[in-house]
Amino acid sequence: MPFGHDMVHSLATAVDLVNTSPATGGEDGLGDLAQLCEFVQRWQVSGVEDLGAEDLAQVRTLREAFHKVFTAPDQATAVIRLNTLLSRTRITPRLTEHDGHPLHVHYFAPGASLGEHLSADLGVALAHLLVEGEWERLRTCSAPDCERVFVDESRNRSRVYCDSRTCGNRMHVAAYRARRRA
Ligand SMILES: [Zn+2]
Ligand SMILES: [Zn+2]
Repeated sequence: MPFGHDMVHSLATAVDLVNTSPATGGEDGLGDLAQLCEFVQRWQVSGVEDLGAEDLAQVRTLREAFHKVFTAPDQATAVIRLNTLLSRTRITPRLTEHDGHPLHVHYFAPGASLGEHLSADLGVALAHLLVEGEWERLRTCSAPDCERVFVDESRNRSRVYCDSRTCGNRMHVAAYRARRRA
């Protein structure tokens, strides 16, 4: 994919955020503040101050809004859903090279809450993906009991499972067994 490191990182963060939702078939990955703090550390979300119950509620609402973008039935719907999300977000582009990272752009406004921060940075990354005509790369896993989302980064856009080692492997084993029974 023709995307820089920031973009790849933001998209991966968006995917992980959505996949914390029980709507994707697993346990709630943001059930409490400790899990929210873990998420922030996992993705090295910068400039985050003390987190509270309000942040947790905000981020949990946000993940459902991002989920709707991933599961949009067509590009036009994805655009409408993402525009709605972005219209509720204060966005302030700012060049930075914090923590030894090369110069890159942050989109969250100064003093933004964690929810606003994620909404701005991940929202803009998804906007760029749509602008590049790559909407179809936003996928939901094809395994029958899994609704996790992913960004298909394969050259020929052929990826169908959220994770080749788990769902992909599981489905291949099932297909192999079905063939042997036939
Ligand atoms: Zn940064
Ligand atoms: Zn899966």
